Amino acid sequence: MATQKTGLRDLFGRLLQDVRISVTDRCNFRCPYCMPAEIFGERYQFLPQSEILSFEEITRLAHVFVGLGVTKIRITGGEPLLRSNLPELIQMMSNIDGLEDLSLTTNGYLLPQMAHSLKEAGLNRVTISLDSLDDDVFGEMNGRGFGVDKILEAIDVAEKEELTPIKINTVVKRGVNDHTLMDLIEHFKGSNQILRLIEYMDVGTLNGWQMDEVVPSKSIVESINEKYPISPKQKTKNSETADRYQYNDGTGELGFISSVSEPFCASCTRARVSTDGKLFTCLFASDGMDLMPLVRDTSTTDKDIENAITSVWEHRSDQYSEERTAQTNEQSPSNKSKVEMYQIGG
Ligand code: SAM
Ligand code: SF4
Ligand code: SF4
Repeated sequence: MATQKTGLRDLFGRLLQDVRISVTDRCNFRCPYCMPAEIFGERYQFLPQSEILSFEEITRLAHVFVGLGVTKIRITGGEPLLRSNLPELIQMMSNIDGLEDLSLTTNGYLLPQMAHSLKEAGLNRVTISLDSLDDDVFGEMNGRGFGVDKILEAIDVAEKEELTPIKINTVVKRGVNDHTLMDLIEHFKGSNQILRLIEYMDVGTLNGWQMDEVVPSKSIVESINEKYPISPKQKTKNSETADRYQYNDGTGELGFISSVSEPFCASCTRARVSTDGKLFTCLFASDGMDLMPLVRDTSTTDKDIENAITSVWEHRSDQYSEERTAQTNEQSPSNKSKVEMYQIGG
């Protein structure tokens, strides 16, 4: 059993502190920036049950990560609420000694009916994705024509269940939802929820990303500031991905995740485990180390798994977003294949 907190550092001295675990590659949405409907149609072959990590395997991995110094684990997907009996997994993970923060990112569609059991099982908090308050724009952003009401209900229910503090993730895509941002900003200003505006990223190769579809956070900060003055706020941890701002009139804060225009690779402390058990050390990696054979083999000890993770992290030199910025051709840094967002969950 891996128990001691060693503090694992990569080649640039970055600590391994948090992990995202994807519990399904399926989703009930078809956001064009993540799972375009024309590719993920009815005939698309998702992973069979036999190839996805079981709850016992996920919990075993989580134990090892926590033994290596990880204090935060986020459950994600695909859409994590589609995984059967998810509260059972949350229950198993919430008992891990040393795990300080167990959270989940969801599109919110199934949350109203699940929030209570997730809270009871030990989930600390949720992040809910919502790209617009305009039904037509949101319907386009989720690729399924779903309306906004259900997601607003999810936010209310999560608040009542104290799955807090709740963060709201909004991906900004130029010409699609950027004209509706002020409504979202005004809706969450003065609420308990923290809105985070995310630059559209070139994750994977299926979304056809183009640099001119990215709205740099700086320009959004400027437009908000003209109407509602805001000031930068100190990060509580250097490894936080969002730049935080607070309203000068004391009505709360909002965040900006600017991985395209202002990369933060130097403080990236996150590992990701895909639904089929691969360990990725960067959102833009081509491949990950397959932990499945180790975690599935009962003769393998936790120490063996710990050694495998250690060796991957100690050799890590990822800084994809910095490299993208250094390029001048406004394309992704290379034509190599990259893991898709729905496989590792953001
Ligand atoms: N299905 C859940 C959801 O949408 O919240 C969890 C998985 S989703 C992959 C995690 C987060 O990644 C969401 O907030 C989503 O908006 C964001 N995301 C997906 N593709 C993205 C992209 N190309 N650029 C920026 N953010 C993206
Ligand atoms: Fe599904 Fe989330 Fe990807 Fe949208 S961003 S397609 S909700 S996994
Ligand atoms: Fe971390 Fe890779 Fe994103 Fe840089 S590009 S912040 S290394 S996930």
